[in-house]
Amino acid sequence: MASVEIIAIKKDYGEVVALSNINLNIASGSFFTLLGPSGCGKTTLLRTIAGFHFQNSGHILVDGLSIEDTPAHKRNVGMVFQDYAVFPHLSVFDNIAFGLKQRKVPAAQIKQKIADILKAVQLEDLADRMPHELSGGQQQRVGLARALVVNPKVLLMDEPLSNLDAKLRIDLRFQIRRTQQELGITTVYVTHDQEEALAMSDIVCVMYEGIIQQAATPWEIYNRPANRFVATFVGANNILSVTEGKGQAVLSCCGIDTGFDMPADFPADGVIAAIRPEAITVSISKPVDCDGIISIPGSVEQVSFIGREMEVIGKTQTDEVVKVVARPSEEMLAAHPGTAIWFNFGRDDLSLFENKVTGMRLS
Ligand code: ATP
Repeated sequence: MASVEIIAIKKDYGEVVALSNINLNIASGSFFTLLGPSGCGKTTLLRTIAGFHFQNSGHILVDGLSIEDTPAHKRNVGMVFQDYAVFPHLSVFDNIAFGLKQRKVPAAQIKQKIADILKAVQLEDLADRMPHELSGGQQQRVGLARALVVNPKVLLMDEPLSNLDAKLRIDLRFQIRRTQQELGITTVYVTHDQEEALAMSDIVCVMYEGIIQQAATPWEIYNRPANRFVATFVGANNILSVTEGKGQAVLSCCGIDTGFDMPADFPADGVIAAIRPEAITVSISKPVDCDGIISIPGSVEQVSFIGREMEVIGKTQTDEVVKVVARPSEEMLAAHPGTAIWFNFGRDDLSLFENKVTGMRLS
C-alpha cells in the first residue's frame, strides 16, 4: 500500500500537449480511476507513473518519495494491460511465477504465493492450463495475478476489460474490485467506460484535453458535476438553454423562472441548464401546481418500453430534445409522436453551467 502524489506534471509529444499541469493526491489503498474520452491523456498519465516515459516537468512521489530517478523496472508498480499480455508458451503457473523467478524468490515461496494469488483471482483449478485453453476473462485474471504476485506498491491498469464481452466485463469488474479491497492495494485504473468507473472506484478523475476536470467520489461526479464537460460526459444529461430575466435564470423554451439568481456579469457564452433523464417525469396533463416543481410543455417524439423502464424522447416547444427515463405508465405508452405532454422536475434537479465545453457550474 502506498500513496501517490502527482505534482504539476506536464507532458507533450512535440506539438501535442498530452498532460497540462496535472496535480493529484491518490490515497493509499484507494481505487482511483482516470476517466475521459479518447486522447484526453489517461494512458500517458498512467505510463508516466509506470516510468515508461518521462514527463517534461513535475514530480511523482510514492509514499512521499520521488521516483523520477527510478527506472520503470525498479518502481515496484504492477501493470495490467488491455491485451492480457500473457506469455503464450507458459502455463498459468509459469506466467505468474515469471516475475518471482526474476527476483530469485525460493521455489517453495513461489508455490505458496501463487496458490494464494490464484485463490484471490479465483483461478485455483487452472494453474496447469496453457493460455490458449483459457477464456479472455481468465487470461485477464492471469494478467492481474501476475501483476499482483510480486506485491507491488501500486497497481496500474490500462483498460483491462475493454476486450471482453459485456457480461464478462461486469463479472470481472467486481472481481477486480474485491481483490483490490482484500489486498488493499493502491490502484490507478484507466477506462473510457463511465459506468465501469462509477461502479468500481473510490475516486473518479475525469480528464479532457490533458486537464483534470474533476476528481471526486462517484456520487459527487454524477450528482454534483463541477463543470459542463463532466455533466455531459458522465451520464446523459438533457441540456436546456437559459436566458436572463430580471437577474434570474429563465428556461428559454418556455420562459419559466428556474429560481436561480444569475451572476451580475451574465457569462459572455451564455448559460445552460442540465437535468438528468431519470429526474424528469412526463404526463399528459399539467400537474397541479406543486412547490418547487417546474413543468414545461412539449411533445412526444418516441416512446420505448424497455420492461422495468420506459424511455421517452420528446422535444420542447423550441425544439430542444428532452430524454426521460421513468417508470412505465400505460398513459405514456399509448402516446403517439406529436402527443402534447409535460416534462416535470424539481428545481433542485436543475444544474446551471456556463455555456462552453468546460463551462463552470453556476448553481
Ligand atoms: P485512449 O482512450 O484513446 O487510449 P488516452 O486518453 O489514453 O486515449 P493518450 O494515449 O494518453 O490518450 O494520448 C493523449 C494525447 O497524446 C493524444 O492526443 C495522442 O494522440 C497523443 N499521443 C499519445 N502518444 C503519442 C506519441 N507517442 N506521439 C505523439 N502523440 C502521442
